[in-house]
Amino acid sequence: MNWFLPRWLLTLVASLLGGAAGHLMGRWLGAPLAGAAVGSGLGIGAAVLVDVLRGHRLMRWLRDGHPVNAPRDAGLWGEFAYRIERALRLREQQLERERERLSQFLSAIEASPNGVLLLDAGDQIEWCNAVAADHLGLDARRDLGQPVTNLLRSPAFVAYLQSGDWQQPVSFTGPGHASTLSVLIRRYGEGHKLVISQDVTERLRTEAMRRDFVANVSHEIRTPLTVLAGFIETMSSLRLTEVERQRMLTLMAQQTDRMQVLVSDLLTLAQLEGSPRPPADRWVPLKGLLQRVEGDARTLSAGRHVFEFPHPPDVELAGTEAELLSAIANLVTNAVRYTPEGGRIDVGWRLRPDGGGELEVRDTGIGIAREHLSRLTERFYRVDGSRSRETGGTGLGLAIVKHVMQRHGGELEVESEPGKGSRFRLVWPAGRVRSVQSQPLNAGVAA
Ligand code: ADP
Repeated sequence: MNWFLPRWLLTLVASLLGGAAGHLMGRWLGAPLAGAAVGSGLGIGAAVLVDVLRGHRLMRWLRDGHPVNAPRDAGLWGEFAYRIERALRLREQQLERERERLSQFLSAIEASPNGVLLLDAGDQIEWCNAVAADHLGLDARRDLGQPVTNLLRSPAFVAYLQSGDWQQPVSFTGPGHASTLSVLIRRYGEGHKLVISQDVTERLRTEAMRRDFVANVSHEIRTPLTVLAGFIETMSSLRLTEVERQRMLTLMAQQTDRMQVLVSDLLTLAQLEGSPRPPADRWVPLKGLLQRVEGDARTLSAGRHVFEFPHPPDVELAGTEAELLSAIANLVTNAVRYTPEGGRIDVGWRLRPDGGGELEVRDTGIGIAREHLSRLTERFYRVDGSRSRETGGTGLGLAIVKHVMQRHGGELEVESEPGKGSRFRLVWPAGRVRSVQSQPLNAGVAA
């Protein structure tokens, strides 16, 4: 009530002043009492007018909707303005906090690796994050308010949405036909729906690869096992001459060799996958690797091919010796196996201008058609299965090479033409190659 007394006093003073002035005027006109009454009324009227003007100013400020800078008046209107302004300020601060929380919440959903789409009770799009927009082929701004089934027409999704049975996710091909999506719906609020999408293309591909891999391994092992079982059966049920017995034992040894090579390649792959990255500071002389590979290749060829190995370069490679040896040996062995008698196999080394290095294995063999090139490093992929098996191949050699090179920060490049021959190139990055004379050329730089 602290506004009441001043206001009352002000009105009283205005009334008294008006009354006094009216009394003076009234005396002059011969009616002092009537003058005092009129003057007092005018004084009160003036006080009320001032109030009305202040009230009007306050109303105008409220109508304009500015939460700050309320008219600064004393008394009742000042009190009104002050309280209203404070309430508005509080509400504005509250709204600002809410806005901030909402924006943080949306940023968190935006950062989710899953797609999030919000639908209202009529299945119209209320909001979606960038991942959902990407998965479902939506425009996060333009498509707001659109019925989702107008934009996402996959029959599997539409049926799932309309079924109301969302215990399990549904999978379907994404709008670009390049991905497989898994979508789960959850209900919230009043008929609203939360649609969560995941791109499961990679997961399905990995699962399919694992299934294929197990099937391939089983198949590869079953074949020699069947042959062995047949020989064992024959040897135990038939009377064989010594020559026949020796021939069978030789064939059985070939089959067990084949299984051994396969198991050894599988173990190599498993080791490559499970072991830490090769060290970037353990240096292996290329010379030693090439000498060992050359020896093995000449033994395998048994004089059927012409070889050209480089003058041993004074170069060292950073990494794991066994892996590097296996990568080079696989390429040279393949060159021998896929080059007919009389063919030529050249192995060359060169430093690249960027400081890296490349080892090329070139042959004049049967070559590979273009359509196979991108698949050569897949496990068990063979262009000609029977030739591969006849020559002791497992279909894992180039998969191992690729893996080794990736682990060493390098890569495998292939060029080939059917009937003319092939070039397989191992490329190492600058940090993993150093020249022995001028060392440390690139020493210690991790690839
Ligand atoms: P494999 O054990 O069957 O040789 P790889 O993974 O080493 O398996 O090679 C995959 C396939 O690539 C081979 O089956 C073969 O068809 C082809 N290939 C590899 N190297 C050569 C080459 N030098 N010349 C022709 N074809 C090759």
